[in-house]
Amino acid sequence: MNTDVTKFDNKIYQIDVHMEDKPQRMSCYYIDTSDPILIEVGPSNSFPYLISALESLGIQDIKRTAITHLHLDHVGGIGHLNEKYKENFVYVHELGLKHLPNPERLWRAVSDVYTEEWLQKNWGEIKPVPLNKIKSLNDGADIKLETNRNLKALYSPGHAKHHYTFYDEYSGTLFMGDTLGLIYPHGDFVQPNLPPPDFNKDILFQTLDSFENLEINKLAIAHFGIHENPYELINDAKENIESWLLFISNVENLSNDEASNELVNWLRRNYESLGIDSETINNYIGNGNFEMQVIGIRNYLKKVD
Ligand SMILES: [Zn+2]
Repeated sequence: MNTDVTKFDNKIYQIDVHMEDKPQRMSCYYIDTSDPILIEVGPSNSFPYLISALESLGIQDIKRTAITHLHLDHVGGIGHLNEKYKENFVYVHELGLKHLPNPERLWRAVSDVYTEEWLQKNWGEIKPVPLNKIKSLNDGADIKLETNRNLKALYSPGHAKHHYTFYDEYSGTLFMGDTLGLIYPHGDFVQPNLPPPDFNKDILFQTLDSFENLEINKLAIAHFGIHENPYELINDAKENIESWLLFISNVENLSNDEASNELVNWLRRNYESLGIDSETINNYIGNGNFEMQVIGIRNYLKKVD
């Protein structure tokens, strides 16, 4: 098996698609039941990694893919996937019906934040998906995996208004996309991920609180991997979001750029005081777009002011 594939119990595979050519940044998942499904595809540039991982598992065809939300690090490669696997259907929030056949707007939304050049180099070109290959999700919808096992689609806004989380009750695994935040290897804490234009703390906390009523054994997140102690991590995510909001509301006189530098310095000190090793800290700090976080938080604070 390809070393980028990690096998978990209950026929669940985690696939590292080497986002931006770095390991352990973006995970996709494959559930190898009688009606198998791929969860997330990653950006276009990660597509060769995804295919080689699937082929190492002996998978020659993909017929169903579920996407948590329409950000390009999750959905960017879907047009490539549909071109290769002609029968593939994409399950996604209903906004996907509008955007995936004409992905220019998704592209522009990101290139406005990251620049066109950055986007081409790091995530790569997006290709359209035909409308008749897209199935829009409803809250609570069941996607059959095998007899007595379904993947339940749960509408989960807060990070993005077009976000779904997928709950496999049989294994107790919650495929969360970006709803929780970021956990990089060797970190046992959650770093918030609160981008504009949709981040809304009240809505996100409602979503996270609703998960606490589910029986969960594992959280499968996009950035990165599968984690145990789900309820502690959900609490940790909420605490850290609260403290980031407080920090940003206390530096309201600084520009976005200055505030993002202060946020990074404060974060580094916090992580050091928790005794986290410098490699892990650099991984968290080096791979975040903190100015985007500041803009997302300020956008929310303005709404509730
Ligand atoms: Zn993401």
